[in-house]
Amino acid sequence: MIILQYLGGFLGAALTSYSVTSGYRLANRISMVERSSCNSCRTALPWPSLIPVVGYALCRGRCTVCKDFVPVRYPLLEISSGLFVLLIVTRFGISIQSFKLVWISMVLIACCESDLLSRRIPNVILIVSIGVILLVDALALLTGVIDGLSYQWGAIALFAGVCMRCTGTLLFKRPGLGIGDIKLFTILGLYAGSLFAVTLLAAITFASLVGLVGIVSGRLRRNAQIPFAPFLTLGFVVSYFVPEPMVL
Ligand SMILES: [Zn+2]
Repeated sequence: MIILQYLGGFLGAALTSYSVTSGYRLANRISMVERSSCNSCRTALPWPSLIPVVGYALCRGRCTVCKDFVPVRYPLLEISSGLFVLLIVTRFGISIQSFKLVWISMVLIACCESDLLSRRIPNVILIVSIGVILLVDALALLTGVIDGLSYQWGAIALFAGVCMRCTGTLLFKRPGLGIGDIKLFTILGLYAGSLFAVTLLAAITFASLVGLVGIVSGRLRRNAQIPFAPFLTLGFVVSYFVPEPMVL
């Protein structure tokens, strides 16, 4: 089991690396199939650079060709996600729950990168995520792993997103939430079930605190819009540590 846990951790870090790359490519409309390259000079990365964390350490945080800095959030995300996946595998082993939690973690990371760089959550993420959950649930149903389907949290999350958007429009004359965030709400509801409620509460709390500190310190304008995906991701991690209920 220990080997399985560490393998899960390494796999989590590797998947995170791919998720960040996917988010970057989706934000910049770059092909998803070309080889990983430097964000600045587009030189293809040598294979040691592709190893999570180790690659960053080997090149000392810089591109070996143009010497531009690699964002430090990349190795930090790889480490934290690796640990998170290790925890998931420790708690649920190899199971449907583990798969769903790992998948949604990776989707959130890709969305964070895309939201931070372009303020967009691409439709393809929503479409692929819904396709994957339908496929996995169909297989689980056919093999007897689950005895019924339950997508009510996807609908609840979608409704919550629409309500937040409309509330912002009514009270502040601008949408309270982007369409991309509503898509992400729906995916989270579908994959995380009741954890979505805790996730949303934590995300709103974090976003409000950051917004408040930003406005008080003068770093943010009063009507500034901040990307919500990173707060949802943070909220999701927090929700995992809420002991009960843990319904998927
Ligand atoms: Zn470069």
